[in-house]
Amino acid sequence: MAEHCWLNGFLMPIEQAHISVLDHGVLYGDGIFEGIRVYRQNAFLLNEHLQRLQQSAQAIGLALPYGLDELKGACEQLIECNGLEDGYIRLVVTRGEGSLGLDPKNCHHPNVFILYRALSMHSANLLTRGIRLITASVRRPASDVLDAKIKSLNYLNNILAKMEANQAGADDALLLNAHGRVAEASAANVFCVKHETLMTPSLEEGCLSGITRGVVMQLARKAGMRVEEKPLSLYDLYNADEVFLTGSGAELVPVRDMDGRNIKTVPGRWFLTIQQAFEQLTQETLD
Ligand code: PMP
Repeated sequence: MAEHCWLNGFLMPIEQAHISVLDHGVLYGDGIFEGIRVYRQNAFLLNEHLQRLQQSAQAIGLALPYGLDELKGACEQLIECNGLEDGYIRLVVTRGEGSLGLDPKNCHHPNVFILYRALSMHSANLLTRGIRLITASVRRPASDVLDAKIKSLNYLNNILAKMEANQAGADDALLLNAHGRVAEASAANVFCVKHETLMTPSLEEGCLSGITRGVVMQLARKAGMRVEEKPLSLYDLYNADEVFLTGSGAELVPVRDMDGRNIKTVPGRWFLTIQQAFEQLTQETLD
């Protein structure tokens, strides 16, 4: 069967799914989204993702045209329809069609669409060897500019950061906040390990409240690690025993090189412990 997507209440072949060029999601990046992993036809932590979607919607003053149960049903329907065992769901809500100006007051019907397809952000080889990160020159906007907790369609600075990584021959880029402290990678949260302690920037540093980030912190505590959310500098990453990224799309990715400095252990002992527990969890939630 042709690949299907879900658009405004209906499953349809992907090439028949269209939205207007006057949609403010297209014109201004005015909208929100979620990215959700599917393991053995089960959307992993779907409720948590839908909660975050609702909070993003609330933060930008957008009324979701469907309830969370309806959206959950839509995701499940799409997974069943496309039949792919493992993959990635992209759920997008745009402000909808309006006039040409940016004022959203005439956008009365948000568009909602859901895609489900395979996604791998890094090759299997890199997932074992570790990726190379560079620090991007573009910064993560401060929360009083654009709150990082809003998962909005505005990803331009993340994209510019990724382009810098491409240009430098690296695999991904790290964005600092306006104070020069570590925020996150282009589409993933960042962690480091030093002296058996797992550390990640606190949300106030300007990173997304990643769902994988939350799970990883829980798993690390269960494994007996101390976990700290705190401001981190590049120095902390350069001198860490382990560095890794987390995200629904990226999953858990070890870092082997940060701005040309070798990271001490790749993949590290703690990374492997947490990764194993994470994989187990992705299978467990099915039962
Ligand atoms: N930060 C950014 C900027 C992201 O786009 C993502 C991916 N959604 C993450 C962090 C990781 O979040 P999550 O674990 O919820 O996918």
